[in-house]
Amino acid sequence: AKQFGSNTLQFYRDSLQSSSRERLLLEAQLDKALVRGELEVFYQPKLNFAANRLQGAEALVRWRHPERGLVSPAQFIPLAEETGQIDAIGDFVLHQACAQARAWQQAGIAELRVAVNISMGQLRQGDFVERVGAVLVSTGLPAHLLELELTESQLSDDVEHLAKVFTRLRTLGVRLAIDDFGTGYSSLGYLKHLPVNVVKIDQTFIRSLDGSDHGGDAAITRAIIVMAHSLGLEVVAEGVEEPAQLEFLREHGCDEIQGYLISRPVEAATLASLLREQAAQ
Ligand code: C2E
Ligand code: CA
Ligand code: CA
Ligand code: CA
Repeated sequence: AKQFGSNTLQFYRDSLQSSSRERLLLEAQLDKALVRGELEVFYQPKLNFAANRLQGAEALVRWRHPERGLVSPAQFIPLAEETGQIDAIGDFVLHQACAQARAWQQAGIAELRVAVNISMGQLRQGDFVERVGAVLVSTGLPAHLLELELTESQLSDDVEHLAKVFTRLRTLGVRLAIDDFGTGYSSLGYLKHLPVNVVKIDQTFIRSLDGSDHGGDAAITRAIIVMAHSLGLEVVAEGVEEPAQLEFLREHGCDEIQGYLISRPVEAATLASLLREQAAQ
């Protein structure tokens, strides 16, 4: 996978932080990007320990900017959330990811579960559940192969309302994951009230995992795994870059891992070759 150019990152960092005129420019460019098909979905596979296979992949959006190359979502998703453009972008990614997973299933390449990031703004749309249902129908993807990832810090407001939306999504048959787990303030309490399937341990805890546990990250990681399992939830660790981190997570019963050690986020065709290799083994 290509790296993002540092000039690109700096340009957007500057734009986001500087004048509202530049923000308007970026907003207008983003509108055009959708229409012109400059947004693209990359996929990062997840390794399941028990099956010893790639069983899932996270969909991560990229902007293939005509002059600036590949732009990271960190540079435009926050703006899109403010402007409301996230609704259109989110619809695009959801449809694209479901269609891709269905295509891999139909081609006999893999029964891959695809995970899609959902912003709070999308979840607040009155018809969000219907939209998800419609995408499943139009792409033909079985609901159990779709997982929605919601960031923990976004879940702080109205838990009662969220619980209703989550329950309806579960009734559709889709799976729900709490992203960046451990970084919010209310980590434990709401898990009781929200019908989720998966917690994704935030990468900040994984970074220092090498068994020696200097800053307490290993203790926290172990505790999250035990707690999640006792609630009947699956645990995914993200940001796994080192073999020592993989070993620690395997030993402590983590279910799946995701990170550069397994693969960076890659284009659909690249993941398809990885999956074909795996199927041939
Ligand atoms: P996230 O959902 O927490 O996604 C994980 C991020 O960590 C991705 O960054 C991924 O490329 C990166 N990552 C994966 N493995 C490793 C690793 O081993 N080491 C390191 N250092 N990083 C790793 P990315 O693709 O730049 O996405 C950034 C964020 O943008 C995502 O964080 C997510 O919050 C948001 N995002 C991306 N696509 C979408 C989307 O379609 N919709 C929404 N609402 N948000 C999105
Ligand atoms: Ca995510
Ligand atoms: Ca995350
Ligand atoms: Ca994150």
